[in-house]
Amino acid sequence: MKGVIIGGGIIGLSIARELQKAGHNITVIEMYRVGRGASWTAGGMLAPQAEGLEPGTFLDMCLESRDMYETFVKALEKETETDVGYWKCGIFCPAYSEEEEHQLLARMKQYTDMGLSGNWIDRKSLEGRYLSLGKDIRGGVLYPDDAQVDNRLLMIALEKYARHRGIHLMEFTQAEELIVQSGRFTGLKTSKGTVEADYCIVAAGAWSEKFVRAHIFPIKGEMAAIDVDKKDIDRVFFGSRAYLIPRKDYKRLVIGATEEMVGFVDGNTVKGILQLFTGLKETLPHLANRNIQEIWYGYRPATPDLLPVIGKTEVENLYVATGHHRNGILLAPVTAKIIKELIVDGIESHYLEEFSISRFRKEDDGQN
Ligand SMILES: Cc1cc2nc3c(=O)[nH]c(=O)nc-3n(C[C@H](O)[C@H](O)[C@H](O)COP(=O)(O)OP(=O)(O)OC[C@H]3O[C@@H](n4cnc5c(N)ncnc54)[C@H](O)[C@@H]3O)c2cc1C
Repeated sequence: MKGVIIGGGIIGLSIARELQKAGHNITVIEMYRVGRGASWTAGGMLAPQAEGLEPGTFLDMCLESRDMYETFVKALEKETETDVGYWKCGIFCPAYSEEEEHQLLARMKQYTDMGLSGNWIDRKSLEGRYLSLGKDIRGGVLYPDDAQVDNRLLMIALEKYARHRGIHLMEFTQAEELIVQSGRFTGLKTSKGTVEADYCIVAAGAWSEKFVRAHIFPIKGEMAAIDVDKKDIDRVFFGSRAYLIPRKDYKRLVIGATEEMVGFVDGNTVKGILQLFTGLKETLPHLANRNIQEIWYGYRPATPDLLPVIGKTEVENLYVATGHHRNGILLAPVTAKIIKELIVDGIESHYLEEFSISRFRKEDDGQN
């Protein structure tokens, strides 16, 4: 079977790897370099609990993917001889106000009632642990099972995998138009000619709307990175004012992230960067003296209900896997598994119903 995937981000490349392992002949169409979209710009947190996700199907899918991560990265590291910086460091959520403390504790209780781990750490214990602590911080919740991966290293590894295992990467190639005959996908017009295939998967991130009947739009996020030292911070801090992600090798601390509904507007802004550095200063103040390494931005792929769209479309042999919004790095293993099972084994995961693109088509049909 020959498959073509539009988009060489974490979703496209993770799916390509699964399908290649199943013996399919895969081509990935990427308008720039593979792995340099949202997947390059992310924080790499694997944080279903720190994100405070509402109990339900989406949380279940995120937890399943978090559980799959260690096996996923170990296999990929072996296949590519590339360390991807996976670190089960735990994620700490500081409370900057009494109201936030109540909210965090309520969510933590829901999680612990479900059998998940989580515990409160009070301010006094934090003061003993860190060189400085923002004056508003009252304590916070630690989720020891949340983790992180260095998403840039992960993209390098996935690219390496593709190149060495015969996945055809067509970079600097624009996917332009689907060829559909009698409701069935037959080929893809690109800036470098037509690619014929048995099926196509749209994994074009925030740019996917061009190919599927659902509103998919970018939510911009600005990020920064500074120098960091081992004694500064021992795990990810996921605060409402900023999140701080020390990489496993302590070569950088990643600071995130703004959320801006501005469309595709390139560049960092003073306001965005100020927000990040103010959040940093109000969390671990002594880090304000560190050197800045880099500032950047990216576009999260979002849908109207902020949940992913995964599975079949109204066109036969055309599939979609996008809209992962804030959790696309986390959700890559489970998404790749779901799509592989659907296409190769004909198994429809129970997640597909909830995340089907038809939920948007139904809304459209109702309005029209
Ligand atoms: C600032 C920020 C912080 C984030 N932090 C986290 C985090 O901590 N944890 C987490 O789990 N997630 C995080 N995310 C979300 C995560 O990055 C995304 O959900 C995920 O990367 C989406 O992957 P993707 O492969 O769908 O998209 P992308 O990585 O954007 O890949 C899509 C690719 O498709 C290509 N493309 C688009 N249109 C075409 C076309 N017509 N022809 C050819 N190629 C095309 C693009 O060039 C791009 O390379 C963050 C995102 C941002 C922006």
